[in-house]
Amino acid sequence: MEDTTRRPEGFNGFLKHDCILSDSHAIDLTGMKIIPLAIPTPFYVGDVNVYLIREDPLTLIDVGPKTPEATRVLREKLASHGVKLADVRRIVLTHAHEDHCGMARQVRDEAKDADVYLHSWESGHLVGRLAREEHRELMRRSGVPDAVFEEMQSLYEEISLLTDALDENEITPLTDNMELEFSSGSLRVLHTPGHTPGSCSFIREADRTIVCGDCVLKRITPNPILSPDPVAPHTRFPSLAEYLVSLARIRSFSPTMVYGGHGEPVTDFEEIFHRYVSAIDERQRRVVSLVTNEGVTAYDVAQRLFPDSFGQDVHRFLAISESIAHLDHAEHQGKIGLEKTHGLEVYKKN
Ligand SMILES: [Zn+2]
Ligand SMILES: [Zn+2]
Repeated sequence: MEDTTRRPEGFNGFLKHDCILSDSHAIDLTGMKIIPLAIPTPFYVGDVNVYLIREDPLTLIDVGPKTPEATRVLREKLASHGVKLADVRRIVLTHAHEDHCGMARQVRDEAKDADVYLHSWESGHLVGRLAREEHRELMRRSGVPDAVFEEMQSLYEEISLLTDALDENEITPLTDNMELEFSSGSLRVLHTPGHTPGSCSFIREADRTIVCGDCVLKRITPNPILSPDPVAPHTRFPSLAEYLVSLARIRSFSPTMVYGGHGEPVTDFEEIFHRYVSAIDERQRRVVSLVTNEGVTAYDVAQRLFPDSFGQDVHRFLAISESIAHLDHAEHQGKIGLEKTHGLEVYKKN
């Protein structure tokens, strides 16, 4: 059997952290119990949290990557709650990153007729993160040399082996404000783009509990990942601006408990909100300070911003993503200028 458990260093750019989330974190939502199950991934981020809602219809929020180990652990943890994979009736995906969605088809096939839900803006990811021509074009305009793009592309091709692709017609689209009904209540879908364009969160309004994928993580600031805009694929999705709106929207619900895709749940959302906003402000200042009178590309800025992590792994793509997200945001806010020359986007001091 091929070794799919290799750990590409720094995947998702997340810092290594402890992802210990025991079942004692399960809460009872006026009858609806959300049970977190920590599932191992081969990525640097560590475990991913899968949420079991043992209700009718039996639902999993996220499933984990497609590795033999993740499948085994998911089976075991479900069994400890008296559930088999075959009992799953509904698979709801927060977003289409491999660590969260990789096993979806496998679970769906084993649980015959289980429905898979995902926001339609995520489906492009299911065919590979850098596989589309639009990605190459976005990278070129940002000053990324073709050879570097191809190295990053082949790395993501390997990572995408941890996901089985699903066809568009096998997915029920999640839409904002849609209600996912259960025998004892419902979860409302919140489209919370930023980390990815189609990232979704799920709120139980009765006690303002939110399951939010990688939108809010206790120990790490999620990366706004570079992506073509799902509505206008030749332009970039304004990931950082969208992310800030999503954070503010989550805040507007005054959540009492936020369950993320990795690590422990967040009980003090205000604290994390302010921490994120000040980290983003600080990064904005640093990025703006790297923009010169002569002009720089996002690729130049990425190298200066992350001199240590610009090696031959996914760090490079994440560094470029982060730089573009911040440069775009700074430009939209009028802090820096942008000129397009010879197919390149060059940011200049105002
Ligand atoms: Zn993610
Ligand atoms: Zn994740």
